[in-house]
Parts: sequence; structure tokens; C-alpha cells
Amino acid sequence: MGQYESAMEKTAYDFAIIGGGVIGLSTAYALRARRHHAKICVIEAGPKCGFGASWANGSMIHPSQAAPWDEIGGLDRVDIAKQVYELAAYSADILRKRFDEFEIEPRHRRASCAKIYISRAAMDADLNTLEDLFSLGLRAKYVPPLEIPSRLNIASKNIYGGVIFPSDHSGPARIYCQHLVSRLKASKVDLITGDAAKFIDGQAVILNSEKTIRAQGIIIAAGAGSDKLANIAGQKAVRGYSRTFELPNDVNSFPAMPVMDDAAHIAISPMGTHLRVSGGADDAAVNDDRIYAKLEDYLARRCPKLPLTSAPKEDWTALRPMSEVGPVIRQLRDGLYANTGHGHMGWTVSAGAAEKLADLIL
Ligand SMILES: Cc1cc2nc3c(=O)[nH]c(=O)nc-3n(C[C@H](O)[C@H](O)[C@H](O)COP(=O)(O)OP(=O)(O)OC[C@H]3O[C@@H](n4cnc5c(N)ncnc54)[C@H](O)[C@@H]3O)c2cc1C
Repeated sequence: MGQYESAMEKTAYDFAIIGGGVIGLSTAYALRARRHHAKICVIEAGPKCGFGASWANGSMIHPSQAAPWDEIGGLDRVDIAKQVYELAAYSADILRKRFDEFEIEPRHRRASCAKIYISRAAMDADLNTLEDLFSLGLRAKYVPPLEIPSRLNIASKNIYGGVIFPSDHSGPARIYCQHLVSRLKASKVDLITGDAAKFIDGQAVILNSEKTIRAQGIIIAAGAGSDKLANIAGQKAVRGYSRTFELPNDVNSFPAMPVMDDAAHIAISPMGTHLRVSGGADDAAVNDDRIYAKLEDYLARRCPKLPLTSAPKEDWTALRPMSEVGPVIRQLRDGLYANTGHGHMGWTVSAGAAEKLADLIL
């Protein structure tokens, strides 16, 4: 019986959620909160939930970064940025409350995030893109270069200035997913792991093992795997990397908050006794070793006091589920829904996107 103890072949569920990342788990959590007696399952391809993009991420809960990365095909960038900002701000508030409720230790959390710029022109260009978000409540505080070492606790070489976003915060997606898993299990949500959804046929999900899961409502929250299950326009996957160092004796030399470098597209995130540096690949042909070396080199320049070469480290790479049409939180047809395509904002919007989809379904 193994993984299927509580999910027998052809069991009928009220809701089957495909994908056990932060988006799928949050969706199950939101549905359970509204329907205490509904039969709900989460189907996760991997051996455990929360091991995809949600495991490796930069920890930033950053409504400030709501602007889309790419050109949005035929859509108004400002409209998308505003919509994502509102969802992100709503979600960031829910996450703050949930971190307290789940008793996530303060050492894993930071009250804001920062961004640094190499020139006045780069900073002005970025702040221009945020202009429309300031009217929605986004706040930003300029940090002159001389104050960067004392306020952010990083080296300020070649930096023109920085901005602290007090509306942002940060926290550990990995630990949060583990809390969701234990709460979902306790509330009798079936977590079916180690078996992928192969295809969807009407209200049936056919798994790789050929088992069939039937449900009145099927929700695709399979991250970068979502577009294989339904035709969701404009989906693509963008690879991201992170290297996490274990430095329990050096926490005083960590940056004061997550810091994103606008030009390098690299973020440094303090998380308890660990420090993570994360970023993407500019060139798909570059090999993974070179990307990790580049990330570590960047971290060494910004935090020169840290003994990086001798510290234990863990490398991670995952696919961000991006969408060229903005996040997809909607009904695809009767009985079939999607919650995906949140890209670089997936952790930030996770709680809010789940609430929004649960409202739509119920
Ligand atoms: C390096 C990096 C740094 C990031 N930093 C941040 C950040 O600081 N802030 C932020 O807001 N966001 C950040 N993100 C983005 C964020 O982590 C993702 O958007 C978010 O984790 C996506 O969650 P998800 O649940 O959609 O995807 P995932 O976590 O990838 O979960 C999808 C799950 O679906 C499963 N699956 C796929 N196909 C199937 C199938 N057919 N059947 C069953 N299961 C399936 C997968 O195994 C996976 O577990 C970052 C991403 C990366 C890669």
C-alpha cells in the first residue's frame, strides 16, 4: 500500500491538487480552512512535498518586485505590476501573521528587504518602474553609499546607493512548507507523494503508476510542470540557482536583511545560521559549476569577513514557473483550475494566490 494508504485507486475527492510546492500546499490549506469536511488530496511527483522551486528560493517576500521581468505579450506592464503588487501585499500580510501562528523563529525572518544599484541612472530607472506602486502603498527608503556598510552590513564597493523596502519582509519557504505539510496531514488531507500526474481526463487524474484519482475540482499547481497537464498560454520555466552556507559562528557578519543586486541579478539572504546566495543564469550554455562559483565569488566580495571556503555548503537549482501573461489563478474549464506562473514572486504571493483561488472555486 505504501504511499497510497489513504488514497485508494478511484477514490473520489472533492479537490485534487496537482503539485506539492508552496503553491499547491497553500491551495490545499486555503481549501481546508473553508471546507472542514471536504476530501482533499495533494499529488506530488517527488518523494516529498516542497522540494521544487520552493526549497531553493531567496526567502524574500517582496511586493516591491511586482513588476514583470519580461515584456508581457500584448498586455500592459503597469496593469500587471499593479495587480501583482496588490496580490503580493495581501499575501505578505497573511504570511506575517502565519509566521507568528506557526511560531517560525525570529532568527529566520527579516522585517524588510533591500536593493543596491551601481549607478544613479540604474536606480532612477528601477524606481521609475515602481512609480505606479507607490500610490498603492509601496514604501522605499534611500540609503546613501556611505551608510550601506552600517545599515545593510555589506561592503559598498562599486555601489552608487541602495533602497530599503519596509513593505517587504522575508522568511524560510522550506520551513513554512514543512509546517503546511504537518497541518494538512493533521487535518486529514491526503498527501500522495512519489507519483506524478500523467494526464487529466475529465474529472480524473491519471498517475504515472496508472492509478486514477477522481475529483470534482482539479487544481493544477505543478509549478514548471503545469503546462504539460493543460494548455496554459504563455508558460515557461526559468532556471534559478542557490548556494547556501552554514555559518553558525558568523551570523553577526551576515547582511542585516536580504539584499538584491539590481545589476548582477543576485540576492544574498540571511536565514538563521545559514546564508544563501541566489541568482539566475544569463546564458543557458553556462555550466552549473561556473554559476555556483560566480554566486560564491559575489558573496565573498559583499561579505568579505565570512569564511566561505571552509563553511559547509549546499547547492540547489530549480525552475521558476514563469508566465508571459502574469500569474495564472483561474478556472480553465468546469471543474479544472490553475494556480501557477508566479515566477520570481511565487513565495511572495503563495498565501494570497491560494486564498484568491479558493474564493473563486467556492
Ligand atoms: C533560485 C530561486 C530564488 C527564488 N527567490 C524567490 C524569492 O526570494 N521570493 C519569491 O517570492 N520567489 C522566489 N522564487 C520563486 C519561487 O520560489 C517560486 O515561484 C515558487 O516556489 C513556485 O512554487 P510552486 O509551488 O509553483 O512550484 P514548485 O515549488 O516547483 O512546486 C511544484 C511541484 O509540483 C510538482 N510537480 C510537477 N509536475 C507534476 C506532476 N505532473 N504531477 C505531480 N506533481 C508535479 C513538482 O515536483 C514540485 O514539487 C525563487 C525561485 C528560485 C528558483
